[in-house]
Amino acid sequence: MPEFNRKDPTYTRTVDRYSRYISSPGKRLKFLRAMLNAPKEPVRGWRLWLTRIPFLGSLRERAALVVEVSRYLPVENGIPPALRLTALLYRMRVALYAAAFLFAFSFGAGAVYVIGRISSVFSVSTEAKEMGSARPESGKLANMDAVDAISAVGSKAGLPPEKVWLAESGGGYEFYSNGARILTEMETAGDARRFYQFDADPAHELPSASAIMSKPVGIVFHISESDIVPFTDRNNSSLKHASRGLLEYSRDHRLYNYVIDRFGRTYRVVRDEFAASHAGNSLWGVGKNVYISLSASFIGVCFEGKYEPGQAVGPDAINEPQIIAARMLTAVLRSKYGIEDAACVTHGLVSINPSNKLMGYHTDWVAGFPFEAMGLTNKSASELAAVSKFGFTYDQAYLAAAGGTRWPGLQQAESRLKESAAKKGLNVEQERVVLWSNFQRAYGMQHSLDKERTRMESEPAE
Ligand SMILES: [Zn+2]
Repeated sequence: MPEFNRKDPTYTRTVDRYSRYISSPGKRLKFLRAMLNAPKEPVRGWRLWLTRIPFLGSLRERAALVVEVSRYLPVENGIPPALRLTALLYRMRVALYAAAFLFAFSFGAGAVYVIGRISSVFSVSTEAKEMGSARPESGKLANMDAVDAISAVGSKAGLPPEKVWLAESGGGYEFYSNGARILTEMETAGDARRFYQFDADPAHELPSASAIMSKPVGIVFHISESDIVPFTDRNNSSLKHASRGLLEYSRDHRLYNYVIDRFGRTYRVVRDEFAASHAGNSLWGVGKNVYISLSASFIGVCFEGKYEPGQAVGPDAINEPQIIAARMLTAVLRSKYGIEDAACVTHGLVSINPSNKLMGYHTDWVAGFPFEAMGLTNKSASELAAVSKFGFTYDQAYLAAAGGTRWPGLQQAESRLKESAAKKGLNVEQERVVLWSNFQRAYGMQHSLDKERTRMESEPAE
């Protein structure tokens, strides 16, 4: 064998394996020479830790080899499937790195080493520095760190929502440029989206009756609260059976636009252009706009799992494959519809009960949702417009579901309410009466659209 520049045994072995795709001995030697004499591309900074992941770490080099090998292959034979797979994996690498990172994390003690390495490289990220001192014996703490970790990787890896596109679609699936894979076999139609955008300002000018909108403007995250089988390989068939049941129920009752099962598979159920019955009576403010009864205006994404206050992330709450899938789905939807971060929220924060003027008829994820892991800002800091602009109150049960304390968004809403009352020379109760009549006018408008929707539903199907 001639003398080559590159001598690291893993690399030379890989090059040798790829060279076997070339049948002509002359071309094969030429390929070997080119690849083994090519100077090693320097890898610096945070990328260095990527190279330590088995197989994934060498994806970049492998992708370069695939490009090179394909130059020596006869055109009429096409590219062998194994090589195409490598190229595909390379294109999905950001998602794979995140997955590998989470996988490493779930190994507790071993993860400390990984995190230690990362924290020394992510010198600007304070979360990462804190992760270096993670105590893996505390399950709850490890969960929180996992969330921070995805957020840290995400902020470095960068999946900008405006840059996602549909890369491929086929029988039963869609595949997106950010690695999102949406399964379409359970898709169904529904009632058209029809909703108003209300003004959150105290004046509450109502929109004109003809200003009906139909393009989704936000996302509401839910958890299925279905019976949960422990997430282990022994339960594989029960896990699949349970997911199937949830999917069929969601489709037959048009409950959600998307369901993410416990293996992190993303199913589209009610197609985006139709309203699913996911949010019931609900209200959320986005900047100077407010939306009421969000089923018509927001896309409903449901995680299969069970919500327990303080345990939002975990093997039987929502797990790592689901978080990764939801992060990618969120980017797809935000890209497709120009959905603002501020409009991505959880059911527990938007659910209202107009009959007793209380917040939180539903409480799924009133607290603890891993917003950062989805590439979103934490909505526990967002002012609750239902309280500050429309006079809703809450009871102990609502606070209990959030872990027993008033979170910043709720506190802010209450002090905003006091300010607006003081400005008018009213006490808070009097101000609530004023705001309540504003709510009823707006709710009445949206409700009349929703009623037409229900009427359409009860007509015989074609
Ligand atoms: Zn819900």
